[in-house]
Amino acid sequence: MVVRRVCACSTLGERDRVLVFAQRLDLDLLHGSPGTLDFVTGTAATADILQRAADGGRISPDEALLLYTDAPLHGLGEAADTVRRRMYGDIAHIATYIIDRNINYTNVCVTACKFCAFYRAPKHKEGWSHDLDEILRRCDEAVKLGATQIMLQGGHHPEYGVEYYETVFSAIKRDFPSLTLHSLGASEVEHMSRVSGVSIEESITRIHAAGLDSFAGAGAEILVERPRKVIAPLKESGERWLEVMETAHGLGVESTATFMMGTGETNAERIEHMRMIRDVQDRTGGFRSFIPWTYQPENNHLKGKTQATSLEYLRLVATARLFFDNVRHLQGSWLTTGKDIGQLTLHYGADDLGSVMLEENVVSSAGAKHRSNRTELIHLMRSAGRTPAQRDTLYDHLVVHEDPANDPSDDHIVSHFASTALPGGGVGRNLPLVEAS
Ligand code: SF4
Repeated sequence: MVVRRVCACSTLGERDRVLVFAQRLDLDLLHGSPGTLDFVTGTAATADILQRAADGGRISPDEALLLYTDAPLHGLGEAADTVRRRMYGDIAHIATYIIDRNINYTNVCVTACKFCAFYRAPKHKEGWSHDLDEILRRCDEAVKLGATQIMLQGGHHPEYGVEYYETVFSAIKRDFPSLTLHSLGASEVEHMSRVSGVSIEESITRIHAAGLDSFAGAGAEILVERPRKVIAPLKESGERWLEVMETAHGLGVESTATFMMGTGETNAERIEHMRMIRDVQDRTGGFRSFIPWTYQPENNHLKGKTQATSLEYLRLVATARLFFDNVRHLQGSWLTTGKDIGQLTLHYGADDLGSVMLEENVVSSAGAKHRSNRTELIHLMRSAGRTPAQRDTLYDHLVVHEDPANDPSDDHIVSHFASTALPGGGVGRNLPLVEAS
């Protein structure tokens, strides 16, 4: 790749830079040769860092921060896309999605995170928990809709220890052996270990034996101490979250790593969050993917505070692709940023748009109004110049949608609608499905 300083981009406003980039993107798609154009790389400092990162070199946290704050948006995006294409080689034309269902088994939680609109304190009249039959019913529904993965996610229920999760996971694996249980995270492990009075190692070993395949990596929010204490004062520290993940990786249970941006953290703290994850990844290699998404401000105690803008999100995605030379996958979020921005992430280093999300209640409770379906995700990827592919939890391709004429058109595979998507399946006891437009 040749990086050439085309113009003094500092003379352009951010809006102009976006327009220039959009025009170049159109040319890219038109000519079918994304990444071959020279791009604006800013100052000598940002140009040098972009060149090194695009060529596969490691960049420091300080360099990542400089790129995040100062590099021209289009140069940042093209460098990230260059890295993505080199990482994926002959499958770089593919973008992936997965069909999964988030099953929220309880909203009862003792941790009271200030950004959370989903939880209810114990004894609150709006608290609910689903029994095992209801959880299995939802798994059955998900399987019938083509899901390959279940993400169990719930509050820190004061009575749910390791035994509860052993019971649930073993029952799901007994009835639905083909489902991958990509569920929970370090926070739930920390909580269940405390409830049961056992070590982190014992908890992970037991739930893994019961059927958990990998950790979803939720609960990371922001790992840096200052902002984490502000938004989740009762949650384990970021260092502890990473310790639990490192233990899990050592026990053979891999995970993803997430980032909720936009709750008032500084730019430097955004980069520091990624630095903390990269350091652990250097030791374990157990993070399969980095998944940034944006805080949603409704119905929670942080309402009215900052929310990351679309441009900040795109810059973060691109910087993450350049910074994480040791994490293979990067997921763009359409659920929290919208489908247009989700689609754009595919040109800022993302290789995956995540799940159709047959059911999601946590982020939706805080105001995420976007929903999609398999047909639409396939269209988003195809119109971004990619070949869509359905993947499994390990990112292996299950179906590559090579020919648009053969694209699936099953409109039942829709986010948020699982409980009503199948005949007779709409009872959904106590399920607070969020109306989404
Ligand atoms: S984010 Fe999770 S741990 Fe925090 S209050 Fe919500 S449900 Fe509880």
